[in-house]
Amino acid sequence: MHETHTHVTEQIKSLLATGTEEALIDFVDTLHPADIVDLLEELDEAERSTFFHAIPADVAADIVEELEPIDQAELIRLMGAERSSEILREMDSDDAADLIAELPAAKAETLLDLMDIHGEDVRELLQYDEHSSGGIMATEYVSVHSEWTVEQTLSELRRVAPEAETVYYIYVLDDDEQLVGVLSFRDLVVAALDTRIDAIMNTNVLSVPVEADQEDVAQLFKKYRFLALPVVDKENKLTGIITADDILDVFEEEATEDIQKIAGTTPLEHPYFSSSIKELWSSRIVWLLVLFLAASLSGGIMQKFSTAMQTMIELTFFVPLLIDCGGNAGSQASTVVIRGLAVRDIRLRDIWAVMARELVVGLGLGAVMAGIGFLRAWRVGGSSAIGIVVSLAVLAIVVFSTVLGAILPIVATALRVDPAVMSAPLITTIVDAVGLLIYFSIAQLVLQV
Ligand code: ATP
Ligand code: MG
Repeated sequence: MHETHTHVTEQIKSLLATGTEEALIDFVDTLHPADIVDLLEELDEAERSTFFHAIPADVAADIVEELEPIDQAELIRLMGAERSSEILREMDSDDAADLIAELPAAKAETLLDLMDIHGEDVRELLQYDEHSSGGIMATEYVSVHSEWTVEQTLSELRRVAPEAETVYYIYVLDDDEQLVGVLSFRDLVVAALDTRIDAIMNTNVLSVPVEADQEDVAQLFKKYRFLALPVVDKENKLTGIITADDILDVFEEEATEDIQKIAGTTPLEHPYFSSSIKELWSSRIVWLLVLFLAASLSGGIMQKFSTAMQTMIELTFFVPLLIDCGGNAGSQASTVVIRGLAVRDIRLRDIWAVMARELVVGLGLGAVMAGIGFLRAWRVGGSSAIGIVVSLAVLAIVVFSTVLGAILPIVATALRVDPAVMSAPLITTIVDAVGLLIYFSIAQLVLQV
């Protein structure tokens, strides 16, 4: 695999240095755009520029669509406005819009002007919120009229197919451009040539409004497994399509957001290095302060039991062990439940079922930990009575933390607070205070200190 990669890179480099343009184009034809993206990293700026000027614009467009936004911007700078606009014209409108949205306003204007008619399409797409259907749709769809025949539709397909984002679904419009039907490529090719489209189309069309949230659209794709969905405006006029490959990016974006939330910070709008110091600071400070104040509760509890601790100093040896193990058990449970909520595996009405399961899991975990805790405390503390106190406390704390960690995210969701934002750090803080309370109460009961 690696050897082939090096071999291919060498071949491109030598073609760029000494070969003819035809030889380079023929060679590039044999490679997949996604693989070419990997090769580009091995080329220097001059080679990259020569490469993108030599290959046909439509081939270049397929490659640029695969690049990360930051590399796209770099390439635009390298190639200059003229060549960039030629390539942008060949890109699907949704990808072109995403690229242009990342550029400085003046540069974007220059390119849109150079793209003429294609620029107009992209300008329209740029009006929509980037997280809405409008922000991810493309305008290159296949549409026909209901009174057309299969034969007319096939020749229309032949005309528009090279430009279309997908040809697998054909959307049917009435005279007012309203969406009235859909058929798949399969439906089309199995029908006789003189069949009218309205005889074979499916009139129960699922569509999404331009302003729909991309996350809701992604859920529709998950449920119905279509390869594309049509996007309509307020008058039910077809304005674009969203294809399944765009939805892959949505799932990736949403997953990234959830991961940032689980760590206890509000999600950032921008990648790490494009976030200012102030943004990094403000996404964390509120939670840090809340947790800081809540943590002082633990001090109060220690104070309340100070006589017990003075009477039996060995009790204090086990405080770090106990509160750590409670915090860990709670974080484990909450992470599992937050993930379940995010992928809609767990819903609000499942709260009792989750509680029951986590109670049993917590008992199972607590029992093992208690056994080990007993032996440890007996050895270090010097009496089996301390062993009993510590093991009972471990059991109670692990069960309490596991159940709390599991239900807090569900309660937060019910209260419309983001479950991932309150997350693990808050649970740790609560468990610290309650854990100490449990431990010293058991100690007082059993040891009469
Ligand atoms: P089948 O699964 O019946 O063999 P297929 O494999 O050709 O069909 P699918 O992608 O599975 O195509 O789509 C199934 C059917 O869904 C097609 O007949 C198509 O007309 C219909 N369809 C496509 N898009 C939509 C939509 N947006 N709303 C409703 N129906 C749609
Ligand atoms: Mg199918």
